[in-house]
Amino acid sequence: MKMSRFFVPTLKEDPADAEVISHKLMMRAGMIRKLTAGIYSYLPLGYRALRKVEQIVREEMDLAGAQEVFLPMVQPGELWVESGRWEVYGKELLRFKDRHDRDYCLGPTHEEVITDLVRRDVRSYRHLPLNLYQIQTKFRDEIRPRFGLMRGREFMMKDGYSFDVSDKAADVSYSLMWQAYKNVFARCGLRFRAVEADSGPIGGSFSHEFMVLADTGEDTVVACTFCDYAANMEKAEMGVPAPVPSETCGPMRRVDTPGASTIEDVSKFLNVKPEHLIKTLILRSERGPVAVLIRGDHELNLVKVKNHLNVMDLDFADSRTIEEVTGGPLGFSGPVGLKNVDLLADHAIRSIGCAVAGANEKDAHLVDVNPGRDFHVDRTGDFRCAMGGDPCPRCGGKLQLFRGIEVGHLFKLGEKYSEAMNARFLDAEGAEKPMVMGCYGIGISRTVAAAIEQNHDEDGIIFPPPIAPFTVIVTPVGAKDTEIEEAAEHVYAELWANGIETLLDDRDERPGVKFKDADLIGIPFRITIGKKAMAQGKVELRNRKTKKVELVDISAAVPAVKDRLEAWSAE
Ligand code: ATP
Ligand code: MG
Repeated sequence: MKMSRFFVPTLKEDPADAEVISHKLMMRAGMIRKLTAGIYSYLPLGYRALRKVEQIVREEMDLAGAQEVFLPMVQPGELWVESGRWEVYGKELLRFKDRHDRDYCLGPTHEEVITDLVRRDVRSYRHLPLNLYQIQTKFRDEIRPRFGLMRGREFMMKDGYSFDVSDKAADVSYSLMWQAYKNVFARCGLRFRAVEADSGPIGGSFSHEFMVLADTGEDTVVACTFCDYAANMEKAEMGVPAPVPSETCGPMRRVDTPGASTIEDVSKFLNVKPEHLIKTLILRSERGPVAVLIRGDHELNLVKVKNHLNVMDLDFADSRTIEEVTGGPLGFSGPVGLKNVDLLADHAIRSIGCAVAGANEKDAHLVDVNPGRDFHVDRTGDFRCAMGGDPCPRCGGKLQLFRGIEVGHLFKLGEKYSEAMNARFLDAEGAEKPMVMGCYGIGISRTVAAAIEQNHDEDGIIFPPPIAPFTVIVTPVGAKDTEIEEAAEHVYAELWANGIETLLDDRDERPGVKFKDADLIGIPFRITIGKKAMAQGKVELRNRKTKKVELVDISAAVPAVKDRLEAWSAE
């Protein structure tokens, strides 16, 4: 491809509405353009990168025994009524009617369609396992589409679904996908972690997320520094709770704390460290209110409490409910004397010998509160978020927090859809059973954005070679000179002849402009052809990442690129 003909409208300035680096750079590099909120067009450069990721995903899925299909994007509402999701999916599901007034939606995911497909044609255990996937546009009417391709409304996803005869067989399908995902992100040249994710009240680690590590990521990855335990924040379990201290406690007393309603205020006012404070949080689910105790320096993990209670909706109670439950206002709740409400406590509460807690009345706290002596909890459990330095639940090592971007998700569905939609098969004994399913997603467009979040510098994108739109850009410099132009054409042709995808910057531009654009669009290698080096039969080979420039013989340009490519992937 020649730059003079290439539709790559680069921008000098960051677009005003772009908040994150990948969005800014993809706009500036002429990779994407916004059509409307959360909906983007992929321009040639962007589409090439997207297709690179797609192809890697396709190869690894095929290798793992999955088969590619292509399902309709428009789905009949009836199927969603059948699965029970028409009612519960909410506004992310874009619904519409056809001319016959029948309900339809745009596919945000394809469990219904695939289950319908498989139940019609697969009836015997002999045809299982079956793993089908597609690479397709999804539509989710996200409440806050933002960050460019990171959270779009229309986006490219690989979604795959496995069908098995038993739970055990489904675990095998799951682990094949887990390995395929590892291969995909490794082959993309990205730094990532596979983390255990929350799978709802069924527990276990039947859900994994693949996270590309990047400081700008929205998600938190909790990983052990010693073993390979890694989980997302919702799921990350706590290691063994600290032993109960022997510290003895004086009699409990009430103290005035005028206006001090936050942990920070109370801690300052009474000169007590937050770890000696008890936060009493009043939550509300469809089953009514519940009180949860968390150490002052810890954060509540709503998902853990939700799973523990096995409820659908759980959130912080409003101030009226708090008054009803505790008799006092928001900010002064405490466990002592709480009646008529279930009292849960995080494990760490047990290890506070002498605590400060709200007195359930305005402007007052209790000090020298001793858990066990002054109040009793109904249940203790793991209800808080992990922090850096916490013990690892597997090996006792130390946990560390990273920022990450979720690019892939594995989920063991079990019999949820096959039961609801009657996808059954006959086993070897002739008994009818529901198929056991798994679903597996990769955000293809988000992966491109995540790759840029992880790999960029002040000059622009630094594409890892496997997903770069082109591997090399050949840049002739200097005033019009046929010898240079011919040499550039020659190197360019040679690279293509060797299967190395190359751009030729044949534009009539100053070298500075060409270099800036090459850096911005992130092509891994630049071959500069100029008069001085050419006089010695040499060209410059520059590595976009290290910015190192080396002089190579013009005749050895191709093997040099091949060699540096290998070195890059070996890093
Ligand atoms: P999130 O928590 O980010 O909303 P999700 O749990 O809804 O993700 P899944 O339904 O598991 O996502 O979808 C599979 C993959 O599709 C995700 O891992 C992510 O990479 C990608 N994805 C999901 N929503 C979007 C979106 N709005 N824009 C781009 N990619 C997305
Ligand atoms: Mg979502």
